Amino acid sequence: MKLTIRGKLSIVYTVVLFTLLTGFCIILYHAIAFSFQSKTRNELLTNAHKLSERFDNKSQTFTDLPENDFNANPLYWFRMIKPDASLYRPAPVFSVMKNTASTSKVAQSSKTEPWFYNFEEESQWFSSVVFPVNEGKQFSGWVEVVIPVTEGKRILNYIAVLMFSLGIVIVLLLFFSGRFLARKTLAPVEQIRKQVDDIYEKNLSSRITSPNPSDELGQLAGTFNLLLQRLEKAFDSQQQFIADASHELKTPLTILRTHWEKLVTQKDIPYHYRIHMQSDVDELVRLSSLINNLLLLASTKEGIFPDELPIINFSKLTHALYDDILVLAESKNQQIRVSITENILIKGDKTRIYQLLLNLADNAVKYTPQNEWIDIRLQHDNLWAEFIIKDNGIGIPEKNLPHVLERFYRIDKSRSRKTGGYGLGLAVCKTIVEAHKGRITINSGINQGTTLIVKIPLETV
Ligand code: ATP
Ligand code: MG
Repeated sequence: MKLTIRGKLSIVYTVVLFTLLTGFCIILYHAIAFSFQSKTRNELLTNAHKLSERFDNKSQTFTDLPENDFNANPLYWFRMIKPDASLYRPAPVFSVMKNTASTSKVAQSSKTEPWFYNFEEESQWFSSVVFPVNEGKQFSGWVEVVIPVTEGKRILNYIAVLMFSLGIVIVLLLFFSGRFLARKTLAPVEQIRKQVDDIYEKNLSSRITSPNPSDELGQLAGTFNLLLQRLEKAFDSQQQFIADASHELKTPLTILRTHWEKLVTQKDIPYHYRIHMQSDVDELVRLSSLINNLLLLASTKEGIFPDELPIINFSKLTHALYDDILVLAESKNQQIRVSITENILIKGDKTRIYQLLLNLADNAVKYTPQNEWIDIRLQHDNLWAEFIIKDNGIGIPEKNLPHVLERFYRIDKSRSRKTGGYGLGLAVCKTIVEAHKGRITINSGINQGTTLIVKIPLETV
């Protein structure tokens, strides 16, 4: 499983704090348990000591002992055990309690050091001390004292349950607060990511901003900006190079083309030469259109379009297109169907918009087989002028669709070999549409025909 940095941070944060908290709880629990145990042992030893002082050396027995049954002395119970494991006097309470140590076991315990043990009796807990009696430097047996400790045990259990449940709540709180903190800390990263995501070739001049330029992320944003600056420079000089080269090639090509076009019409040139020359002229025509397209693509928007575009009649341009496409489609006997809403006005460059429409029509004719149909429609769509050209042709495979608007992109050379384009037509269309603040969309599927929709803001007068 791949975790995000945010996920990793919150897990590390939770684990570290949880470990610290668990350690702290364990130490605290043991400290409380230890203080309970010391208190119990002190109490046991005090009582045992007091009782051992009642041993009378002369009579070799205990004197003045308090009562010792459940009713008379609820605080502690005791018994006196002789070195031979018999009792100095009967201890009725101990005969009721089944889990106390047997007198023979007591008789095996140390004669100098007290021995502590705990036992449970019908869900009640008790602590016991077996205390050796050495009054008058002579060993006379043991005093055993028992006190109830159920209350203390309960408190300890309660503390354990409390710590456990609080622990779960705290872990959950830690996890969510960790996530929140991680999100807060990483928010600038997301902000930078979004800004970087919005940068593409057309707005390489934009720069990334960060909330705090002097922190690590601010420095990262700074490095990005330097990279952008270098990219922008490289991109600009590349565009400039294409623009300059195309510009330099344009004039000689036009001269060449004019010469050859004149020559080809001369009757005194043998027919088979004229055939070759005509094919050269065709090649020159293709080259000039390539140069024109390159010039358009390499120029900045400001370079080719004036600031304030004039209002033009889109409907008239579409009518003109219809006339031209009829000529284009004639050789393939394609049927052209047309529906034009009159007087649709937009702000635009007439020549460029016509170039756009012609590129689309050229594709529709090229990529649609003989005897099929092509639909052309111009209509209003809210605040847009909507131009739709739909053909019944070979279509574009789904995997190629996202790329057809890129420069020099042609799908599988074999299917378009005969059509002889450069793959610049749609890139030019996209540039023109974007310069008119419009949108271009393509719907297509293999053998399902292609629909191209161009939307340009309407102009109302
Ligand atoms: P150019 O327009 O530069 O002469 P081109 O037509 O190959 O060359 P684009 O117009 O950019 O280049 O089109 C790119 C590719 O998209 C084409 O090669 C073609 O495969 C595909 N394509 C474009 N329009 C259609 C269409 N109407 N039907 C099917 N495929 C199309
Ligand atoms: Mg084309």
